[in-house]
Amino acid sequence: MSTSGMGRSAPVRGTRQRSPEAAIEGWGWGSIGVNVALGLLNLSIAVASGSIAVAAETLHNLVDLMASVAVLVGLKISQRRSESFPYGLYKVENVIAVGMAGLIFFTGFEITQQALFAHQRPTTVDPWMLVGVMLSAVIPLGFSHFELRAGRAANSPSLVADAQEYRTHVFSSGVVLLSLIGHILGLSLDRPAALLVVFFIARTGWGLLKDGMRVLLDASLDAATLAKVRRVVEDDPATVQIKTLTGRNSGRYRFLEAEVTLRKDDLKKAHAVSQRIEQAIRAEVPYVERVLIHYEPTGSIHRRDAFPLAHPDGSLSEHFGEAPYFALVTLRSADSAVEKHEVVENPHRKVPKAKGIRVAEWLVSQKVDRVVLKEDLQGKGPEYVFGAAGVEMILTEAETVSLALEDLSPKPGTRGSEEGHEQPA
Ligand SMILES: [Zn+2]
Repeated sequence: MSTSGMGRSAPVRGTRQRSPEAAIEGWGWGSIGVNVALGLLNLSIAVASGSIAVAAETLHNLVDLMASVAVLVGLKISQRRSESFPYGLYKVENVIAVGMAGLIFFTGFEITQQALFAHQRPTTVDPWMLVGVMLSAVIPLGFSHFELRAGRAANSPSLVADAQEYRTHVFSSGVVLLSLIGHILGLSLDRPAALLVVFFIARTGWGLLKDGMRVLLDASLDAATLAKVRRVVEDDPATVQIKTLTGRNSGRYRFLEAEVTLRKDDLKKAHAVSQRIEQAIRAEVPYVERVLIHYEPTGSIHRRDAFPLAHPDGSLSEHFGEAPYFALVTLRSADSAVEKHEVVENPHRKVPKAKGIRVAEWLVSQKVDRVVLKEDLQGKGPEYVFGAAGVEMILTEAETVSLALEDLSPKPGTRGSEEGHEQPA
């Protein structure tokens, strides 16, 4: 078994766009600005009105402000990499999210105490306060729309969480607005409204805690991404079987590991194939930090040979692409005993163009290991298809499948050299 792994390479992105780090940083600063503005707005309303609900909302803004600062700090730290942290510090982003959750729960507890036990101060409500509270719902909603889009594009869990949290401001500010309107109508809704705002704050904390812990505990990549990776690996012509495939998140990066059986007998070629698979994965799935492919050459228990036939009786064709039939023979590698012998029609015989390449691709999909031919395909399309898939081409002078097989099977006394090809496990 061998392993191929590549370090970090830049995620695929357009040349005109900023790097994801720069984008996250920009939105992080924007979020700080929004939270400062909201905090000041609500603070002035809270002081002027004496409402506990507005005070709770101000604290809510403060919590959000700290979260935005934490996103920026996490981003800076997570870009570092050192000998002591060879896997990178991406999870700092998630550690910070979990730490924030603790802080948020504490804040919620404080406001709850206020709402339940503080002396009610006389509350005054002026029209400008109602406008201010409405603004503190509309501003974050607009900002979150664009921030969410940017966060998804940069695959940043902290930006996405920040944006989603802003959406709840419609509800928390809505509750505050109702309590102020209630006051004008002579209803005392301030304390219950403050408790509802606490509920929103706590919900934010729970979301941060849950998502952060999932990543910290190496929860699996989502099923859709894993399925996509599996498809990419399976699509490679040299792949015989995927034994295991796992993936995890770390910050906004993805780590993948796969055990694959490859139809390649020499390790150098197998290494090249595993790099090709890795590149294909990176092209399909963004933010892949590392792909580890453990590969082993085909177990060599069976071998599948293909023969172009002129006639189903087993006489070999002089041609490859034009051959009307193909014999597909499965042999036991140990003694070349035939285990299965089938004759199938060439499905691409009537195709006008690139017949040879189509037939070669079809044989690769039939998981053929060797093709035994009378026509030399050197320098032609099929040779490249077979080369990429690790399918061996063998020229024969024999007239029939059975004669060709006899030529190919190792003679007594020479079997040692055949087994010399087996790879160390
Ligand atoms: Zn908030």
